[in-house]
Amino acid sequence: TLSAPPTAPEADGRDHTALLASLREAIGAAHVVTEAQDMAARLVEDRGLRQGTALALLRPGSTEEVATCLRLCKAAKMPVTPQGGNTGLAGGGVPDGGIILTTDRLNRIRQVDPTNATITVEAGCILANIQAAADAVDALFPLSLASEGSCQIGGNLSTNAGGTAVLRYGNARDLVLGIEAVLPDGRVLNDLNGLRKNNTGFDLKNLFIGAEGTLGIITTAVLKLFPKPSARATALVACTGPDPALALYARMRSQTADTLSTFEYVERLGLEMVIDHTPGCSDPMSEAHPAYCLIELTGNGAQADLDTRLEGALEVAFEADQIVDAVIGASEAQKDALWALRENLSEAQKHEGASIKHDVSVPVSRVADFIKVATQACMDHMPGLRPCPFGHFGDGNLHFNLTRPVDMADADFLAEYGAFNRIVHDIVHEMGGSFSAEHGIGTFKRAELRRYKDPVALELMAQIKATLDPDDLMNPGKVL
Ligand code: FAD
Repeated sequence: TLSAPPTAPEADGRDHTALLASLREAIGAAHVVTEAQDMAARLVEDRGLRQGTALALLRPGSTEEVATCLRLCKAAKMPVTPQGGNTGLAGGGVPDGGIILTTDRLNRIRQVDPTNATITVEAGCILANIQAAADAVDALFPLSLASEGSCQIGGNLSTNAGGTAVLRYGNARDLVLGIEAVLPDGRVLNDLNGLRKNNTGFDLKNLFIGAEGTLGIITTAVLKLFPKPSARATALVACTGPDPALALYARMRSQTADTLSTFEYVERLGLEMVIDHTPGCSDPMSEAHPAYCLIELTGNGAQADLDTRLEGALEVAFEADQIVDAVIGASEAQKDALWALRENLSEAQKHEGASIKHDVSVPVSRVADFIKVATQACMDHMPGLRPCPFGHFGDGNLHFNLTRPVDMADADFLAEYGAFNRIVHDIVHEMGGSFSAEHGIGTFKRAELRRYKDPVALELMAQIKATLDPDDLMNPGKVL
């Protein structure tokens, strides 16, 4: 459901003619968009959950132009919402009036330095283009999300995106050495270094990473590159539930050392959804099982070594009753087919009616407990509910998605959104976890932030915000 549109910015009683004229002069009239139909796609959240309004959309083409835009907006007390690919899932890039500043035209790869193992990119570079530029020098930029064909690195850093390679390479934050950012008053913070060692005071870049555009606009970043793996060994294994899956995870970690790069989990219901609703996807096993793990090892040695390592670990897991069936990808096509069973899950779920989604994390040692306790609590609240926990098990991060009972109307189910959030997030909190593992706070999780975040941390966040943005002009109403 769309939330009610906030008051249109034109209705704030002020005349914005002079500001718009100055902005047109600064970045060119063609890059100041004010027609409603040209902004329409920028005003809606990716899944259509939130509708915004804006006075204008700005498309600056350089850091200097971003700085001028922010200076002019500050002088006119005009709020600014930064936007990249607009694929964010927390509502953070949708404006409540004011100006949208898109980084679309900041799309240059400035430098690739294979020896330093770095790539310097502007904020509007599409993630897939950065991966391709790394690949061209036989290197790997490991950040990988299903939205990589349209999300931008500025958005990835601002949300501290996760994805499927966190287990081995870390979150977006772990992949950054330096950034350049424009502050709300138009000053440019130049921390654009490619250093692996740099202990010269506070680590300011990390203020902007994960800030969802509330402290300034990231314009450029120096990112880490890694050796490109030459081999991968991929398996889908079946187990009887989350407990053996956790035992298997511990085994894979100890037996495969640092080659383990994926450990994803999905239960039978999720696999069935994919098989039923995705052309070309079928069950690779002859029997149904309660739960499955997608495991991948990557490395730079011989393919045969990696295969032997995976097969050896799985054999021991069979003997220890941690798995009951397994399919190992024998060709690249078969490996891709196993991945497709995981990658198509979110899309497949849409065909089963309304769902209530939770993007949560707990310590990895508690993941199995979390799945069991939260599933039971939600089933107690609504018999017939179809829980579909899946995701980045090895990171302790699950998309704990609940699909409505087969015979219930979507609206009746969605009326329980708050109740399910409370049940799931309370359990997460008790287990020392986070109610937002990957997607951030935006507008959707602000109330949860106030409820669960340490009060001193909240106070510090508000103080930092007030210091950098005393007029509350950078993405107001988001996060805090
Ligand atoms: P936007 O949506 O444009 O913006 C996101 C936030 O960052 C907003 O608050 C915005 O104001 C701010 N922002 C954007 N650019 C800047 C900038 N240059 N400077 C300052 N602030 C800025 N996320 C994951 O973490 N893991 C996943 O596996 C994952 N899978 C996804 C799969 C699909 C199909 C979809 C649609 C989304 C998925 N996401 C995932 C969420 C989303 O893709 C990520 O959050 C992504 O990092 C957002 O990038 P974006 O360029 O679209 O940012």
